[in-house]
Amino acid sequence: MKITHVTTKIIRTPADNPLVVGLPPTTDTREFVTLELGTDQGLVGIGLTFFGGALTPALRSAVQTLGELIVGDDPTQTEAITAKCRKAAGSCGPGGIFSLALAPVDMACWDLKGKAVNQSVCALLGGLRGRVATYASGALMRPHPIDYLAKAGPRLRDMGFRQMKMQCGSEKTIGESIERVRVMREGIGPDVDLMCDINQLWSVHHAIDVTRRLEERGLHLYWLEDPTTADDYQGLARIADALSTPVAAGEYVYGIAPFRQLLEHRSVDIVMIDLLRAGGITHWMKIAGMAEAYNLPVVSHLIPEIHVHLIAAIPNGLTVEYMPWTLRLFEETPDIKNGQIVVPSKPGLGLAFDQAVLKKFQIA
Ligand SMILES: [Mg+2]
Repeated sequence: MKITHVTTKIIRTPADNPLVVGLPPTTDTREFVTLELGTDQGLVGIGLTFFGGALTPALRSAVQTLGELIVGDDPTQTEAITAKCRKAAGSCGPGGIFSLALAPVDMACWDLKGKAVNQSVCALLGGLRGRVATYASGALMRPHPIDYLAKAGPRLRDMGFRQMKMQCGSEKTIGESIERVRVMREGIGPDVDLMCDINQLWSVHHAIDVTRRLEERGLHLYWLEDPTTADDYQGLARIADALSTPVAAGEYVYGIAPFRQLLEHRSVDIVMIDLLRAGGITHWMKIAGMAEAYNLPVVSHLIPEIHVHLIAAIPNGLTVEYMPWTLRLFEETPDIKNGQIVVPSKPGLGLAFDQAVLKKFQIA
């Protein structure tokens, strides 16, 4: 099989989340770069990327360039494709726009690899399980008022979610932070796992202070996420050491090597891997293997439609973040049954872009 053509698009959609109910609709937007890699066998592999912000046109150009570079190559040779892209990009990787551009290329190649042998990507990667835990994300956000949290938590639980994530970090006082967590816990009861994402907003001391007080009040979190600056490996290690609450981090770092630092410094109890910043499935699996050697679980960041294959395939896969930013881009997306997300049974990633939706929201 040989790659014969490359199509990239920029898609702009409302920055909404179907899990948020009863708040005024947002006027914000999100931009995605989509990739389709065509082959001489008629199979098409798909990938997507984002985080480009104002540089989204540059990101699209980078994806298109890497895609054109591998026209004529065999997409099933994923290590060869990754090596060729890295070499061609010279010294502008592994961080930043290079990893974000490599990711959809690698995803599309894995999609083709699965389609070529009529197997899911999960099966190719080990196929450990057919479904895995998942948690509601993006529905309990920092700007949401506390009386909204009181209603939204039980609603998510009643939808069948057994795990959900809230955000803290912008409260004016420690008391306000504790109150948000208390209201959430009171609403959802003791049996639902509650995570809290700080998105790097706290200092080391503040993170330890607030979370210890939560622990003392029996408001235990399933994990505390990105409590401080993502590449402060020693600071994260101090937080992880001081708390019984597990610390999750990893979504903000690029490529493979920073995970060595996070693991060697014991900065994290739960390793969160972002498929885009890692640079695709090939790199993601190597990071997951490193985490396994450190006896640590792995969780995913965004794009549940694709991450379900990866978390389900590995022995240390813990749960999939169900952040529904990208659902509308696809004809069908993975089911959620009994609080678990089900691996698609169709070959490859088991996904197809909804061409009518792409047409509607395409801006370039
Ligand atoms: Mg996060």
